[in-house]
Amino acid sequence: MAAVAPDLDHLRLCVHCGICLPQCPTYRVLGEEMDSPRGRIYLMRAVAEGRLGLTDTFARHLDLCLGCRACETACPSGVPFGSLLEATRSQLAERGPRPRAARLRRLLHRTFPEPRRLGVLLGGLRVYQRSGLRRLVRGSRVLALTPRVAAMEALLPDVPRAEALPELIPAQGRQRLGRAGLLTGCIQRHLYPDVNRDTARLLSLAGYDVVIPSDQGCCGALELHAGFLDDFRDRGRKLTAAFPLDLDVVVVNAAGCGSAMKEYGHWMSGEAAVEAFAAKIRDVSEVLVDAELPLGPLNLTVAYHDACHLAHGQRIRAEPRRLLGRIPGLRLVPLTDSDLCCGSAGVYNLLEPEVAGRLLTMKVDRIVETGAAAVVAGNPGCLLQIAKGCQERGLGVEVVHPVTLLARATRAAVRVEPR
Ligand code: SF4
Ligand code: SF4
Repeated sequence: MAAVAPDLDHLRLCVHCGICLPQCPTYRVLGEEMDSPRGRIYLMRAVAEGRLGLTDTFARHLDLCLGCRACETACPSGVPFGSLLEATRSQLAERGPRPRAARLRRLLHRTFPEPRRLGVLLGGLRVYQRSGLRRLVRGSRVLALTPRVAAMEALLPDVPRAEALPELIPAQGRQRLGRAGLLTGCIQRHLYPDVNRDTARLLSLAGYDVVIPSDQGCCGALELHAGFLDDFRDRGRKLTAAFPLDLDVVVVNAAGCGSAMKEYGHWMSGEAAVEAFAAKIRDVSEVLVDAELPLGPLNLTVAYHDACHLAHGQRIRAEPRRLLGRIPGLRLVPLTDSDLCCGSAGVYNLLEPEVAGRLLTMKVDRIVETGAAAVVAGNPGCLLQIAKGCQERGLGVEVVHPVTLLARATRAAVRVEPR
């Protein structure tokens, strides 16, 4: 494995001003300087300058970071915190201390970014949920003895039946905008197949021929964030090869995946095919924001949650809101701290259930204040996490991806069209 050292010049950009501190979710929850961006940069710099080793304490403060990159948005000095964190984690993955948590992290990162393995796992879970076994387990004390398994069990919605999309969906409508590839993802494919189906249909309605390679794998985002850089690069190269070269755009509807794929060029610099592929990556909201779509009315009040890897990772905030604003009858109400992490952060909610739970409580408190009937977020991890929080609180709030509402509005348009 080839670990990468964080760029010392980038670490030295930090002038310790502290502007990022109030924006950092872990600092807000834990109140510790070493669990703030400034504290973590101080520690990473000490390691990079040889004044500190890769100790358990160092690893712990880095483990607790969500990788949400809110500090990057806040920082006036332009410290690229995300890439510094990923490089440091690659060093920890290669030669850091390996307590039980590190082994669990490795196991989770080996399981989730593998669509087939995840499909088998979730197929088993579907049987568990529908056979009555779940009721039995929840009624017993088994889950109370294993908090991490309990966190995972509580997080998962009813697993839908697996469905495959055709490899090509031709463009409909008057316009012809080109050929769009669609990433189906891992969690998105298995837990939210309707989001992929709606995305493909909307792209087709907008005027794209939609290309959906059936042999596409995982983008490697989880491995990037955990510092398994060789695995991440392997996945990036394989994913690039799975898509045809003649696409005009590659559309992603999961913020974490899109953010990682846009960074392929940084981590695989000099690999022309990968760089060309990375340059075509767009979030679905960027592609559809100005597309010609028939939109009928939805009488709904919604609040929008900014997924970290959309708002901070890709700097996309306006497009999803503009997209929702185009739906007649839909009222978009402000959500306080809309860009504060909900605690999902890949598999963070499984690894650090306590901090994740406190962040989720804060998020749900803010949602309650809005009075919205639906919360919208462009990332499957956020959808799972926020839905769990709303369900636990007994709120009858729908938690959906923006394309779900957009697709619903196109169906409403068909219903209201004059005969
Ligand atoms: S990435 Fe997020 S959790 Fe980590 S230091 Fe930055 S703001 Fe804090
Ligand atoms: S805002 Fe930027 S320069 Fe200021 S402490 Fe945070 S990381 Fe350092």
